[in-house]
Amino acid sequence: MQLSFLGAAREVGRSCIHVQGAHSFLLDCGVKLKGEGEEYPLLEPSHLRRLDKVALSHAHLDHSGFLPALYAKGYKGKVVCTKPTRDLTQLLLADYARLNPELLPYSQQHTQHFLQNVELLEYNEWDSLKALQFRDAGHILGSAMVEVSDQRKLLYTGDFCLRPSRLLEGADMGNLQADVLIMEGTYGGKQDTRRSSKELASKLVHSVQKTLDRGGKVLIPTFAIGRGQEVLFLLESYMRSGHLEKVPIFMDGMVKTALRVYRHNALYLKDEVKRRILTSEDDPFKSPLYLLPSTKDKRDVFEKEKAIIVAPSGMLSGGPALGYLKALAGDRKNKVLLTGYQAESTVGRQLVEGKRALELEGETIPLKLEVEEVHLSAHSDRLELLEFVRRVQGLQHVFIVHGEESKCLELKEGLENVARKQKRPFEVHVPKLEETFKV
Ligand SMILES: [Zn+2]
Ligand SMILES: [Zn+2]
Repeated sequence: MQLSFLGAAREVGRSCIHVQGAHSFLLDCGVKLKGEGEEYPLLEPSHLRRLDKVALSHAHLDHSGFLPALYAKGYKGKVVCTKPTRDLTQLLLADYARLNPELLPYSQQHTQHFLQNVELLEYNEWDSLKALQFRDAGHILGSAMVEVSDQRKLLYTGDFCLRPSRLLEGADMGNLQADVLIMEGTYGGKQDTRRSSKELASKLVHSVQKTLDRGGKVLIPTFAIGRGQEVLFLLESYMRSGHLEKVPIFMDGMVKTALRVYRHNALYLKDEVKRRILTSEDDPFKSPLYLLPSTKDKRDVFEKEKAIIVAPSGMLSGGPALGYLKALAGDRKNKVLLTGYQAESTVGRQLVEGKRALELEGETIPLKLEVEEVHLSAHSDRLELLEFVRRVQGLQHVFIVHGEESKCLELKEGLENVARKQKRPFEVHVPKLEETFKV
């Protein structure tokens, strides 16, 4: 089996791995989004020439964003994914095309070709070639780890999360077996250990309540898909149990549309949420606490004395969150609560670094509102990444992708310790871009 790493090698973004055994597969095909412009997987015509199939792990654009471009390059085969992944990918691609029409390396017609060529696959079923299987990755709705059985047994984790969230079960850890493991290393660094979900939730709720107590509004910028829905459910459940003051929760941008996709694909949610939808009157998706701004200028949001706003993008690199930040910036009673990783040269990063004025579209905006961070993550932390590998039987090779170089190298060190301690013979690699391995 031959593996070529065409993206997400010592970086986060443009995930794409070419696997050549008896069949030829691509695992994911994403883009790397940057402030301006974007970067694509380093695909050569030879990778596409006799490509049998593409397996898509989940909807996030760093894994899916380049799929239509494959059809622009002449690919005519299938893309295998779960149903929620298809629905959410469709949503994200449409939104991205609307916001960045000048950036697209393909046309709407190619997006249609991609959607017409989706092969839906449930967890733990074989694809039409009997070479690919999915197992639940616990990252966002419909996310999958991909098992390839083709000369060797390969497991690709995509993005995965071991611990359960409010909406999803954690990754499926049952009977893990693989000769070759390709895993994410996003939080593989030595410092990347996370407190329990419960502690993080109560920290977030406490911080929100403090702002409401002084009559302020809270802006929570999030990813449109995944964390956005988790944050809504967290706030709603604390309000319902009386541990957080009941105030309007405004959702904006794709957070709302994606919520509908979550509801339509309720089968993929965890049992306790399914039960609430199916058996009781209190469908958590239809909470009266969730509101939408009713006018374009969002006056109704700003007129409320107290409110919470959940809107993309999570790093304030665009999207409706940026407009809210501008409007709330001048009042020290307000707060912006950042919930995730803030990449370099984003507005979110500037806030974290303590900048007290922003240059936006030629305007200087003084920032008086409070800035706070509570890291909620849909990825496994370092300890979970190590535990996962301890549980995979039969390993000979581990490849770490989807992480900053330093974190991947620190994870490699940790995994080599695991191999030594468990007296197991597997080798750990941190591939470079375009590097090819024979295993
Ligand atoms: Zn993801
Ligand atoms: Zn990712």
